[in-house]
Amino acid sequence: MINKTRLEGKVALITGGASGIGEQAARLFLENGAHVVIADVQDDLGQQVVASCMDSKICYSHCDVSNEKQVEEAVSFTVAKYGSLDVLFSNAGIMGPMTSLLDMDLDAFDNTMAINVRGVAATIKHAARAMVAGKIRGSIICTASVAASIGGAGPHAYTISKHAMVGLMKTACNELGAHGIRVNCVSPFGVATPLSCTAYNLEASQVEENCCATGNLKGIVLKARHVAEAALFLASDESAYVSGQNLGVDGGFTVVSHSYSAN
Ligand code: NAD
Repeated sequence: MINKTRLEGKVALITGGASGIGEQAARLFLENGAHVVIADVQDDLGQQVVASCMDSKICYSHCDVSNEKQVEEAVSFTVAKYGSLDVLFSNAGIMGPMTSLLDMDLDAFDNTMAINVRGVAATIKHAARAMVAGKIRGSIICTASVAASIGGAGPHAYTISKHAMVGLMKTACNELGAHGIRVNCVSPFGVATPLSCTAYNLEASQVEENCCATGNLKGIVLKARHVAEAALFLASDESAYVSGQNLGVDGGFTVVSHSYSAN
């Protein structure tokens, strides 16, 4: 029998929860008994996800993760609304433009870093403050990527940002372990979401076709829900002694592919 109460009594804040992997995680965490706050910049979409759940245990809070004040407010909102913060799923991210290194736009580079690295650092800082203040042995999960381990699996700034995220996860794991707080990453292979479809200008079915062709594990299409399942494991007490890990949700892709050209 499937245990549907793996997050019973826990409160989760999910950035980038209005769409894709974050949306699936919001639904899955809720199904598993958590109270959930979706934090995103797409307000209408976020409100639609909440409305579709028809459950008072989920709500939406506007938050641009590149704005520290808004991150602090989203954390305060979560604690005020549901009384605690046990799980941070720091998942919001952008792919940024697909340009050659020779034509790199450094303003776009800064924007990618501001969201994918600085934004994640801000969420960890403020979520950890709330956890430490509440003496909560929480779980922090960040969405990295296969691009955190190899070159060529995404644009340059994106690849740099995701590598940095693994360093951020490790250093946070080091300090926060003293407080009983676990910090891990999930690193998906390609999933058909608005992020990947827009970046490659492809329909979802074409993204999935390409991923199936280049992926290592055959006979299965990676869905956002699979990534959410991995995040659920890291959020729950089933991973009670797991910290400092970058969990690939990539069918072994990064183990067998030491570099990769998307071209
Ligand atoms: P998505 O576009 O469906 O979702 C990303 C969400 O993040 C969106 O709702 C967006 O509004 C939100 N967001 C963007 N900038 C934000 C900001 N400044 N503040 C708050 N929210 C913001 O894409 P997704 O594929 O679900 O992406 C989720 C995460 O997964 C990202 O970190 C991405 O890098 C990572 N990832 C995706 C893939 C893939 O193939 N889709 C693969 C590996 C990793």
